[in-house]
Amino acid sequence: MNADTIMQGEDFKRCAAFHGHVCPGLSLGYRAAAAAMAWLRQNRSADEELVAVVETDACSADAVQVLTGCTFGKGNFIHKDYGKMALTLFSRTSGEGVRVVMRPGAFAPDAAHFALLQKVIRGDADADERQRFEELHLERSREMLEMPEERLFMLSPVAMAPPPKARIDKSLPCACCGEPTMASKLQSIDGRQVCRGCLADQVAARG
Ligand SMILES: [Zn+2]
Ligand SMILES: [Zn+2]
Repeated sequence: MNADTIMQGEDFKRCAAFHGHVCPGLSLGYRAAAAAMAWLRQNRSADEELVAVVETDACSADAVQVLTGCTFGKGNFIHKDYGKMALTLFSRTSGEGVRVVMRPGAFAPDAAHFALLQKVIRGDADADERQRFEELHLERSREMLEMPEERLFMLSPVAMAPPPKARIDKSLPCACCGEPTMASKLQSIDGRQVCRGCLADQVAARG
């Protein structure tokens, strides 16, 4: 599909509004989520509860949340810190779904673009460099939207045990800071039930 058509569509606009900017990573996440949703529509009924597992916390993850409706707060959006552009979308009902993973080389970094990105992040790009960066960034975003799906991703069916649903748990005060904490998250140290924040501080203090 043409990049302009996608960018003017409501779905992409919602992704960009949620994420705060248009970038190659967001475009990639949009494509991955769209590919996974299309696969599920063909292979599963539409009304099943979805769970998304992403293996990166980069820009692409925001498009996945918007398009699939799986969100961090609902407990059906799970991040595995593997540093991979991969998305598994599956049905909680059947435990069946699809894993979408980027093909090697599909997102090959362009040296000039990457160097400019580093400068912009460091805050020492001048106005011309900034403008050039914005152009390259948009160009790359468009490329990601237009690249044929079979060049971008590998899709494979997966079967997995559904992760537990978000739990509602009572809160108890941490014995150290006093802040209400989910009881199941309290940790025992020296016979006191403390929150993980205080536990980390105490462990650090002990060296
Ligand atoms: Zn971004
Ligand atoms: Zn505490």
